[in-house]
Amino acid sequence: MRWENLTDEPDHGRTRDAALFGADAVVSRTFDTPEFRGVTFHEIRARSIVNRVPGASRMPFEWTVNPYRGCTHACVYCFARNTHRYLDLDTGLGFDSQIVVKMNAPQLLRHHLASRRWHGEHIAMGTNVDCYQRAEGRYQLMPGIIEALRDYANPFSILTKGTLILRDLPLLRQAAEVTEVGISVSVGFVDPELWRTVEPGTPAPERRLDVVRALAEAGIDCGVLMAPVIPFLGDHPDQLRATVRAIARAGATSVTPLVLHLRPGAREWFMGWLAQHHPHLVRRYERLYAEGAYAPKWYQRRVTRQVHELAEEFGIGPSRAATPRRAPAREETTAPESPTQLTLL
Ligand code: SF4
Repeated sequence: MRWENLTDEPDHGRTRDAALFGADAVVSRTFDTPEFRGVTFHEIRARSIVNRVPGASRMPFEWTVNPYRGCTHACVYCFARNTHRYLDLDTGLGFDSQIVVKMNAPQLLRHHLASRRWHGEHIAMGTNVDCYQRAEGRYQLMPGIIEALRDYANPFSILTKGTLILRDLPLLRQAAEVTEVGISVSVGFVDPELWRTVEPGTPAPERRLDVVRALAEAGIDCGVLMAPVIPFLGDHPDQLRATVRAIARAGATSVTPLVLHLRPGAREWFMGWLAQHHPHLVRRYERLYAEGAYAPKWYQRRVTRQVHELAEEFGIGPSRAATPRRAPAREETTAPESPTQLTLL
């Protein structure tokens, strides 16, 4: 494994910044409990935790924090798979089962927020891998991270598929009292069969929508990133309707559709899965993604229009930039451009 010069954001290979580790800082562990069977955790002491996403990026945020690398949620389509390649780790099963844990993430973040060079910009989490994946139940890095953000009134957003976020609800409420907090849950479909095969390590879509419901009841707005909409498997009008209806019933403040994209690393893994589970679709996928990682614009526009029409029918709007609840404490703080419209997980 390679522990030098690794990058966090899979931004077409252009990401700068890196959480740099020394090889002597790595401890590998396994736990003989059912939820972690077959998983190896590489505990490291990172040298930095706040990553800058390049200005030329497609991402609607500039700063990110990712306490983990790899994700036991094991979504077949996960775009972050390629980042494991930078560690000389396997982007398939290795991504699902070799998890890098930045043990000192809360301390590093607090130190970073206290720096005179930091100006209180919005920090996005869950942009690379899920910060509320199962490992978080054991390592509990997020409470310290949220506490640091709360104490510095630093605006932030979290995108997750993990129900574990509800553990930190009291902290999220405290943070929302002093700064802007944007929460988004990712639910691309509610079809149980599709979920079991394509997102095998995640909580069921209904459980994720329970998170939306619980946050709404706690007074914290929560949008849903309807991602990914999977061509020919999750894009039938009846499936879109069922999904948007369930999202609306959960009390989501917005729904933002995102069609499946297949970047290198994810593409090979997804196509292997497709050949195994839906071989008759392989040719159709090859044609739909013939131009690269993204489905054609006409297809994306069609899905977006359908979802927006359904959202209107069920009384929820598309994602929009939130209004800060209160200006962050720092005088020099810059408001985030689009804090709730995350487009990744
Ligand atoms: S898509 Fe998100 S939840 Fe799924 S494996 Fe990737 S990082 Fe984890």
